[in-house]
Amino acid sequence: MNHHFHIITMGCQMNEYDSDLVAQLLLSMGYLPTSDPLEADLILINTCAVRARAEQKAVSILGRVLKQKRRTPDLKVGLMGCVAQQRGGDLFKRFPELDLVLGTREVSRIREHIHSSESRSRVLATELNLQPPASPNASGYFRSRFTAFISIMEGCNNFCTYCVVPFTRGREASRSPDDIVEEAKHLVTEGVREITLLGQNVNSYSYGKEEGQCRFPLLLRKLSSLKELLRLRFTTSHPKDLSDDLIRCFVEIPNLCRHIHLPFQSGSNRILKRMNRGYTREQYIDRVRDLRQAVPSIAITSDVMVGFPGETEDEFMETLDLIRQIEFDNLYSFKYSDRNKTRSSTMSGKIDEWEKSRRLGLLQKTQKEITIRKNKSFKGAVVEVLAEGLSRKGDQLTGKTEGSKIVNFKSDSQLLGHIVKVLIKESSANSLRGECLDSAGGDQIY
Ligand code: SF4
Repeated sequence: MNHHFHIITMGCQMNEYDSDLVAQLLLSMGYLPTSDPLEADLILINTCAVRARAEQKAVSILGRVLKQKRRTPDLKVGLMGCVAQQRGGDLFKRFPELDLVLGTREVSRIREHIHSSESRSRVLATELNLQPPASPNASGYFRSRFTAFISIMEGCNNFCTYCVVPFTRGREASRSPDDIVEEAKHLVTEGVREITLLGQNVNSYSYGKEEGQCRFPLLLRKLSSLKELLRLRFTTSHPKDLSDDLIRCFVEIPNLCRHIHLPFQSGSNRILKRMNRGYTREQYIDRVRDLRQAVPSIAITSDVMVGFPGETEDEFMETLDLIRQIEFDNLYSFKYSDRNKTRSSTMSGKIDEWEKSRRLGLLQKTQKEITIRKNKSFKGAVVEVLAEGLSRKGDQLTGKTEGSKIVNFKSDSQLLGHIVKVLIKESSANSLRGECLDSAGGDQIY
């Protein structure tokens, strides 16, 4: 009888990618996936520690799953990802029934760890010096038929003072370009039409030395030549490492989506310095200007944080001012929270929760007005959309523009996996709605 696994994934796209990798390796061991945790023989929770709330949620999910284990003692339970990496063996003290604690770089060794857990009572694996794994290139991507992620590097060397990533994912290590191209080729043969390259700071991707060195723009050029890869994206970029060469890629590479996610975090130079971000407000604005000069239609999205220790009202206003000045296409905004081991957790000037919530509310209101205005400007325009699947209600197709705007539209399901032209008729803060101008029978891929 086959064993079944169930993976609960929290947090970032990198975790989603890791969960897919683990799923493929478990499939190769004969395990079958199940969406019902009660049917599972193995439950893995892939955790995020970037914010305090995500970590609390991971611990509460683990508590629930372990209750199930008390009723079915043969069930194996493992915690993966950043919380596992950071808390390590302490987790066994708090949760004695836990079977596996697997750090962020251990995902590719899941088969070994499962075998060990059969002969040993517990497995703790949190080695951080391992190289990023090569993908097994197996079938079985669950997320979407037409879009996929590829992790091109692990870790980060930047040590922003608020961030746990350098502690939970280790130092930067880039995968070989040949490996990445092989994985992309495999995905394309499986029907994937859009690939998003993942890394904490893809701009510092670098493989090999001197003459043979491959940096990020070269990797993009290598991948862009894959036939049938309609779209290429990447995330995340660090403003201090955004090179002119990368900006040129947006002009020169036809299948590279004209969209960049460029976190700015704060509009105040004093706070940026306390965050150790390595750029000033002025330098950030200059890079955005260079991007827009090169590609006027480029979509720019960003991350921002409110309530960093010591942030004054005036400094918060500088952040609001930057948002109004840049007019981001979308913004992911967060309240600062102390994270274990980070420098900012020991800084003075902590802002209370009520004040952080007030600032966040004001900031989100400011961005919402901008997003609604920007979305309205699409009305009457014809946009190109990769038809990815059915809309939430199931009555329309859904997909994204190059700039990652969600578009819902009535169309023939045969157009799934194609880039189609959609005339935009309506807009809201979160999505666009339109009419497909293409019909099946065009240049069909399937
Ligand atoms: S660049 Fe800064 S915020 Fe991003 S992962 Fe690295 S340390 Fe964290």
